[in-house]
Amino acid sequence: MSKQKRSPADRPDSSFAKVTPGGTARGATPPVAPGGRRQYATAKLSSAQTLVHYGLHFVFPVVLALVFFPLVWQTAYLVMLATMAIDLDHLLAKPIFDPLRCSIGYHPLHSFYAIPVYALLLLLPATQIVAVGLLFHLFTDTVDCLWNFSHCHECYLNSRIYALRNRVRKLLGREVIE
Ligand SMILES: [Zn+2]
Repeated sequence: MSKQKRSPADRPDSSFAKVTPGGTARGATPPVAPGGRRQYATAKLSSAQTLVHYGLHFVFPVVLALVFFPLVWQTAYLVMLATMAIDLDHLLAKPIFDPLRCSIGYHPLHSFYAIPVYALLLLLPATQIVAVGLLFHLFTDTVDCLWNFSHCHECYLNSRIYALRNRVRKLLGREVIE
């Protein structure tokens, strides 16, 4: 019997490449496992995950507007929709769109430096609506990342969230397995 013979259907766990030591945890182009990653990326486009993602981006801000800014909820909703403009930072990335790339920490306006700035905007009455929109946008993107990670371990290992986790563990003097 040949050792070469393996199909993704027989070994579901093998469908996502493992990142080897010194591998590509920070690489811009993660290795594509045979079938797995691409199949998941294709399936994702028409999945519940995509529905939830865009539902959170476009529909849920109505709830936030009604709850937090009831007197000006329509304006608040439009302002929150406008904060979607931070996704323009994807234009700087190559490829511009990668359904499995975690945007958190990756793109400049989704970076770990931007998040505290958005949190500060929350303190100023004039920028509160924008801040809620921005932070909720990042929350929505985080949900999408975690959903991806649950299906694609490689996506987790390639994410900036994983890199940040390792940096924090190093700072705390904890063991980092790379
Ligand atoms: Zn985003």
